[in-house]
Amino acid sequence: MTTPYAAPAPYAAPLDLAGRTALVTGAAGGIGRACALRLASAGADVRAVDRDAEGLDALVGQAAGLPGTVGPRVLDLTDLDAAEQAAAGTDILVNNAGLQLVRPIEDFPPDVFHTVLTVMLEAPFRLIRGALPHMYRQGWGRIVNVSSVHGLRASPYKSAYVAAKHGLEGLSKTAALEGAAHGVTSNCVNPGYVRTALVERQLADQARAHRLPEDRVLTEVLLRDSAIKRLIEPEEVAEAVAQLCGPHAASVTGTSQVLDGGWTAH
Ligand code: NAD
Repeated sequence: MTTPYAAPAPYAAPLDLAGRTALVTGAAGGIGRACALRLASAGADVRAVDRDAEGLDALVGQAAGLPGTVGPRVLDLTDLDAAEQAAAGTDILVNNAGLQLVRPIEDFPPDVFHTVLTVMLEAPFRLIRGALPHMYRQGWGRIVNVSSVHGLRASPYKSAYVAAKHGLEGLSKTAALEGAAHGVTSNCVNPGYVRTALVERQLADQARAHRLPEDRVLTEVLLRDSAIKRLIEPEEVAEAVAQLCGPHAASVTGTSQVLDGGWTAH
């Protein structure tokens, strides 16, 4: 079976997503906010989903004047039925929302493990499930899953996060195989440590778990395996997400696009 394919211009043109709708989860902060602003800068109309209403309000203010729009949608992704419904009719889906707890397995609270898996694996499944009918009908869709180096590598004390991200990698590849005949791509983006609240919040936990003073955590734990010794900026991740939505990425599917400063080169 062949899928219709319109070749893009053979040179780099600015990304144009005018007329596309995009749903970004975890859009009130960090990487999600950067993704929402990047996609709206390219002309997309963005549904910004988060449980943080204040953060979404701030995002809407920041998006004023961009070519595309940003519409806030306050939603806790543990409400899986609501998550699935929210994804109906979107052309681009960015599964980004996430949370982290750094704790040895024997001390890891089972309820937190369950919440991490729900928000970071089951909600993406339900969002993809909600988005696919429209994408399949129109023969075009882009799913980008914000995974992590921890989708490819483990670190101690992050059992729930590593398990969720490894699961997300499998979900993403399965969606790629099923979506291919319908013009739908699915990929992961895999950053190392990014300068966001999620990282700032874990410095104290990491210090406790590794028995180190907090000021040594960045260099001795977080950036230990990165050849480039700096945090990645959220905008660098957003650019990778946006490029996967562009015309030159039509054949890129089932991949894990690593932005890790050389971590996985070891
Ligand atoms: P962040 O904490 O800055 O933002 C996460 C957002 O998700 C927040 O706005 C939060 O309100 C939202 N969220 C969390 N639980 C939710 C729920 N139940 N319902 C709705 N929204 C919810 O974190 P970030 O660093 O921007 O992380 C975004 C994604 O990037 C995550 O999937 C994370 O695993 C991934 N990631 C982050 C890093 C990093 O170093 N920061 C590295 C690799 C991957």
